[in-house]
Amino acid sequence: MKVPYNYLPMQFSDLDEIFDEWKRLILSTEFTLGPYVEKFENEFAKFIGAKHVISTNNGTDALILALKACGVGPGDEVISVPTTFYASIGAIATVGAKPVFVDIDSRYQINHAQIEQVITKNTKAILPVYWGGAAPEMKKIMQIASKYDLRVIEDACMAPGGHVFERHSGTYGDISAWSMHPLKPLNVMGDGGMVSTDDDEVAAWMRMYRNHGMVDRDHNNIWGVNMRLQPLQAIVASKILMTVDKTVAIRNKNAQVLDSGLKKLSKYVRVPDRLQGYKETFSLYMASFDRRDELLKFLNASGIEAKIHYKVPLHLQKAASNLGYREGDFPIAEKYAREIMTIPVHQYLSEEQLTYVLEMVKKFYKATE
Ligand SMILES: *Cc1c(COP(=O)(O)O)cnc(C)c1O
Repeated sequence: MKVPYNYLPMQFSDLDEIFDEWKRLILSTEFTLGPYVEKFENEFAKFIGAKHVISTNNGTDALILALKACGVGPGDEVISVPTTFYASIGAIATVGAKPVFVDIDSRYQINHAQIEQVITKNTKAILPVYWGGAAPEMKKIMQIASKYDLRVIEDACMAPGGHVFERHSGTYGDISAWSMHPLKPLNVMGDGGMVSTDDDEVAAWMRMYRNHGMVDRDHNNIWGVNMRLQPLQAIVASKILMTVDKTVAIRNKNAQVLDSGLKKLSKYVRVPDRLQGYKETFSLYMASFDRRDELLKFLNASGIEAKIHYKVPLHLQKAASNLGYREGDFPIAEKYAREIMTIPVHQYLSEEQLTYVLEMVKKFYKATE
């Protein structure tokens, strides 16, 4: 049996509606910003319950835009984690600031209890990541931020459709950054991203900076960049946004099946805690496995496209060599990198496919008993 990781062929099997809208756009020739982009920004703002949403060309630029808007630059330190996608940390380095790591917890999220220990007079912001689509303990992080007067930029790239208590994920910090990369819970046919905030002034600045710092065609208030979302993608984004709640609900159901099956193998497999009041998006379904590399090979050979996100924690990457970290500095992140595996959990999997995954994992461990 095949259990594919990529769901895009299924998701985009019916293109008529998108093609119709694309045709309308192409004939209008409004190829930069314009009504489709504005429409999507308003829809996403309503969806997450934020006052302002400004779309961008991708999630990485959304992070850079958010950091810039908080005034983060050379001489500043930003606290984040070594267990994330490169872009969270790359964005910090790109604005000229220094990334400072703390370890993760057993749910693979930033360990909030370690944040205070690394705050210095240069600390400007905390950048928690919704890793895999689960959520950091945002209420505790916001308390620390307010005690030390730090900005909070949420990397919510994997978080559309998630909730933390009564609020949508990515609505706790000063600014949140979102991605619409093809493999995120809200995706387009290429690249796209957003920043969100409730702060009017910060929103106005980001809107301006994203588009060359222009107030209008004849006036330039600040030196900016071009981080605009393509209207072609805004059309896709509006359409997919309507399906996000359903996608996340199915992924949660699939994750429950995997959770309960894998918990029966607790001698070999550790499933992260699912906190009360948290709704994860399962952008990635991850658990920790004994003899991970062998199991991965076995599953791949059995037609199951399991993957690893990722094998090397960021503090041990060559790119981080100037930060002065070494092996042993973040034991949980390092253990995670050795044990973690991502299993397909997407909305097009059948019950049979999920059962097959669990059977194959069981077969692998039972064969060696
Ligand atoms: C995908 C992702 C990014 C980068 O988003 P792009 O749209 O690919 O630039 C950043 N952080 C996290 C946690 C992500 O998952």
